[in-house]
Amino acid sequence: MSTTVAIVRGDDPQQLVAQALELLGGIDKFVSPGDVVLIKPNSFVKQVPANGNVTRPDLVIALAAMVRDAGAKRVVIGERNEGAVRANFEGTGVEKVAELMPFDSAEHATVTIPDAEALHVPLTVPKILLDCDKHITVPVAKTHCGAGVTACLKNAMGLMIGTETTKSHAYGICNVPIDVNSLKWPVLGLADMTISQEGNFPGAGGVPVPVGVVVAGPDIVAVDATCARIMGYDPNDVWIIRNAARRGKGVLDEAQIQIVGESLASVLHPMTGVVFDPTEFGDRVNFCVDLRCRYCAQDATSFLRTREGQALLEKLGRLNVVAGPVREPQLDPSAPTLVVGNCNAWLMDQGAFAHGCPPAVWQIAARAKASFR
Ligand code: SF4
Repeated sequence: MSTTVAIVRGDDPQQLVAQALELLGGIDKFVSPGDVVLIKPNSFVKQVPANGNVTRPDLVIALAAMVRDAGAKRVVIGERNEGAVRANFEGTGVEKVAELMPFDSAEHATVTIPDAEALHVPLTVPKILLDCDKHITVPVAKTHCGAGVTACLKNAMGLMIGTETTKSHAYGICNVPIDVNSLKWPVLGLADMTISQEGNFPGAGGVPVPVGVVVAGPDIVAVDATCARIMGYDPNDVWIIRNAARRGKGVLDEAQIQIVGESLASVLHPMTGVVFDPTEFGDRVNFCVDLRCRYCAQDATSFLRTREGQALLEKLGRLNVVAGPVREPQLDPSAPTLVVGNCNAWLMDQGAFAHGCPPAVWQIAARAKASFR
């Protein structure tokens, strides 16, 4: 099994989308006349796209226009968090090409996912996901403390309504978004890397990184693997990508991905996400960490870098932090303890326990705040 991924450089949204689709064989390969098409951008926080947090609305609109012109009966641009979606698309003219659908106020359906590997509980999703003929995912690709890299696969978290999103953390963000995508697997992924992001996202925030490309293809695993390589990550080390490939959802192997357009070598842009450093907080933190899985340690680090985390360390003086599949934590008995992640549920009685795989940074913050008042 091999696949094609297009890498296109530029800034003009129409040119980027048109060129990417031309390299992939044309929009008609993905959309048929009469289709109902759901386009899912990454737009759940109210932001300006110039910071690399959200997909550029003009890119999404350019794609929607192309889908409409291909004869789609209905084109829906949908995302969770109504206030953010409306604010991000305000004044863009989106209504001329598509229906903007904040999922919060849309019709919902509660389903079980037939071939789920992680999410074996009912899930409430926007009904349009089930009703559409085609699902196209249009994320911004960036580093992420709890997943390494976030792009097409993880963009499915926005298909989980309201607090349903917490299920992805509870049952594992390296697998749940794959389950959710399985409800209507995207026929096309177009990842916005015109401005990407590295650094502390989502906890203490990230730093915009202008890369100047979009990465697109019919196999979203291959698109994500290519985005990861552009960022300097080995996709085998990004568990959500590795899991999707293992589950037969697409290809990760570089030899099976034919890059068209710009060469991979010409767009490499190494980025640094949250890198765990046990000495970062000096004597104030006694880390008890096992890095066979790094995500909880990175999430804890991202939290501790926030203003809230810094204030907590200031107040407590010293803190034990347990993260990763730890067997024999060397706790300082004189310090309070923050236990991060499901791997360490056996230590939940040692202090504040943030449940999740990994817990979101805000969930760690909430547990710490509740326990160390
Ligand atoms: S709970 Fe364990 S497996 Fe899950 S992200 Fe944390 S360290 Fe990794």
